[in-house]
Parts: sequence; structure tokens; C-alpha cells
Amino acid sequence: MKMPVETEHITEGPTIAPPPTNATTGAIHAPTNHIVSTWIPLQKWTDDHKVGPVQRLSNNTVPTFALKAPNGLLIIRGYDKVAYWNGMEFHLGFAPQVQNGQALLNSLDLSKNIEPLLQPLALPGRTNRLIVIDPGHGGSNLGTKSVVDGSYEKAFALDWANRLAQLLETNGWKVLLTRTSDIDMALTNRVAFADMHKADLFVSLHFNAAPSPADHDESGIETFCVTPTGMPSTLTREYDDDATLIFPNNRFDAENLKYAIQVQRTVLKVSGAKDHGVRRARFMTVLRGQNCPAILVEGGYLSNPREARRIANPAYRQKLAEAVAKALVEKIEAPSPVVETNPTNDVLNP
Ligand SMILES: [Zn+2]
Repeated sequence: MKMPVETEHITEGPTIAPPPTNATTGAIHAPTNHIVSTWIPLQKWTDDHKVGPVQRLSNNTVPTFALKAPNGLLIIRGYDKVAYWNGMEFHLGFAPQVQNGQALLNSLDLSKNIEPLLQPLALPGRTNRLIVIDPGHGGSNLGTKSVVDGSYEKAFALDWANRLAQLLETNGWKVLLTRTSDIDMALTNRVAFADMHKADLFVSLHFNAAPSPADHDESGIETFCVTPTGMPSTLTREYDDDATLIFPNNRFDAENLKYAIQVQRTVLKVSGAKDHGVRRARFMTVLRGQNCPAILVEGGYLSNPREARRIANPAYRQKLAEAVAKALVEKIEAPSPVVETNPTNDVLNP
């Protein structure tokens, strides 16, 4: 039977977390005219924000623009939602327009996707910071299946989480796991767990699979965070993508993106895997109900024989754990001391 990519999200998608005891609860609709989106010349925006300069890189059919900021290089292409930050893919809500040779960006993209990149990620203080790590699936919810040895995503995710927990505990984080064994756990309970413990950060760990066996070549890493209100999602699966909804987690739009970028970068470095980018989704229950910054990492495709072989290797999963840990104990603009080992030889030919 052809399985959806993420059984977990599919089966429980429309449910949202039970509200915390007060104020901001589940999704609400934005008041009329709450979201005002306008098109702003990138050059004007960078002038106003005292960053830049913006340079036009090409006059070909795809006009390309570069913004050099103190902490990175942004590449924008006309009429293309895919943008690049320090060479890494991320997804705008709206394709940039080009007028009189200038790039125009949607104001929501500027405030929700560009501005956060230019600011450093402020990790919670070392003395009392708490992360909830969420190994995807569990129990009868198997997740995807490895084409190499028939193992399930739920087991790999738990192993990855355990390895990450060990590393973070020795690096200033208090760590809790939503599950520590092979049990069923509703998505809403995972959110409630993080709420109950007043987590500072929630990280859900998963592995991926292509929807069709014909796509067994598909591979790579992607990191999700919730879509800002007013913006279309990168990924919707079969769900409605009502851009007017405001979720509790939307209070952390900027932090979500910063964590996602940071984690995606370090995981890519360690794995050498294909970059599927930082993406936005609105249907993921474990993300949108969170009352703290939250991301979901897809650590590779179990439907790809080459990637599945790597994931089956404990040494590789240790490297994935080290990569996520590195992202959460260093500042985003710091020169990266990230594990620079070559993962190919020992992992692919153990
Ligand atoms: Zn999953």
C-alpha cells in the first residue's frame, strides 16, 4: 500500500493542541485587514535597515540579486520562491517580482523570512534552559520503512533523540523526551508535554520517504517550521492552508526560522546530504500548537537505498545527533567549529 510521507501528520493533522490555561489558545482567524502585505523594493528596505548593498548578479532570464549582510549572503531570484542564505536553500512565501531592474519583495517575506536572518540567534541562558526532544512516531505508528533493512522510522528517530539528549545534557541543556520507549503518543500530547514542562525549545526528529517507490532517488535533509500568518506554506500535503489562521507558535516566527536555519546548516555540513531547505508548513500539529520555538527535522530518506544505508549505521546517527547539538550550543554567526569530518568513507563503507 502506498503510504503518505508522514503518517503521523496525516492522521492527526487537523487537531490542534488543547489550549494552555490562559489567553492565546488554538488557531484563531486574523481580524479583517490584520495582515497587510505590500511589495517593497529590496534596495529601499536594505537602505532603511542599514544593510546591504544589494547587487544585481545577472541580467539573464532569471534576474538574480545578492544582499551582502554582516552575517551572511542572501541570494534572491526573480519570480522564484526559493532563496539562498549562505548557500543554503530556504523558501519565501511569495516569489519576488522585478520592476525596472529592481527586486521587489513581499513585506511579509521581508519581516518574517529576511529580517530574522540578519539577527543573531539568541540561545536561552545556559543556567536553566530546557529542550523537549520529540522522537517522531512510536508504538503502532511506525513511520516510514527503510528499504535497506525494513527497520522503521520510529526506531531511528528514538535512537537519534537519545544520542542528541546525551550531547545536550553535557552542553548546558536540561533535556526531556516526549517518549523514551516504543509507545504510541498522540501529537497533541507531545505539545501538551512541552507546555507542561515550559520548554524553551521543541525539536521533533523524523526521517523521510518519497511518496512513490519510483522516486527512490530522492534524498536529503529538510527542516520545517510553522508558516507565518498571511503567508502560503511551502508544503501543504492534502490539507487546507488557510493563511489567515494564527497559531500559538506564530508568536515565535523569527526564532523558529533562526533555529531551523541553524540546525539545517549543521546537519547538512555533517551529512553532506542534499539540501532540501528550510520549509514552512501549517498542518504539523507538533509545531503549530507550541508555546515555544519549535522545529521539525527530516534527517534523510529511508526510501533511498544509499541514504537508508547511512541512517542504518549508528556512527552516522551519532553524527546527525552531534550536528543538531552543535547548532544548539553555538551562536548563529560564530565561525563554525562544526564537525568537519568526512562522513563518506567510514559510514558508507563500514
Ligand atoms: Zn515522520
